[in-house]
Amino acid sequence: MASTDTTPATGRCRCGTVRWRVDSPALAVSYCHCADCRRATGAPVTVFVGFAAERISFEEGRPQAHSRHAGVERLFCGGCGSPIGYRDAGLPGELYFYLGVMDEPERYRPQCHAFIDEAWRWLSLDDDLLRHQGLSRARQ
Ligand SMILES: [Zn+2]
Ligand SMILES: [Zn+2]
Repeated sequence: MASTDTTPATGRCRCGTVRWRVDSPALAVSYCHCADCRRATGAPVTVFVGFAAERISFEEGRPQAHSRHAGVERLFCGGCGSPIGYRDAGLPGELYFYLGVMDEPERYRPQCHAFIDEAWRWLSLDDDLLRHQGLSRARQ
């Protein structure tokens, strides 16, 4: 369990066209160092916070989706282009937001690193979290 905090959470894209609310605790919070996330975000490392999709309501706007790998969709705002999240058919019923588009990102502390084998050599994160070679969660 990533969090027992049941206070509703909100998030939005940079322009505010897409806004959402979540009324459940996070399922998982993880860094991802994979090259595909780097391309999708432009950032050296990504942090995801995952929720049960049924507990997320998009209150304004709807994200656009782009798929490069079968079963995997990356969500973004069609207006401003902000990366919003990620959906994987192998994690049914779950939706992962990029932590930077949540309104109170510091509520969600990462639990682990995924794809540490792809991390940039100069990137130094001084923590003792579990480091996975590859995915942090098994897919169905
Ligand atoms: Zn936007
Ligand atoms: Zn990744």
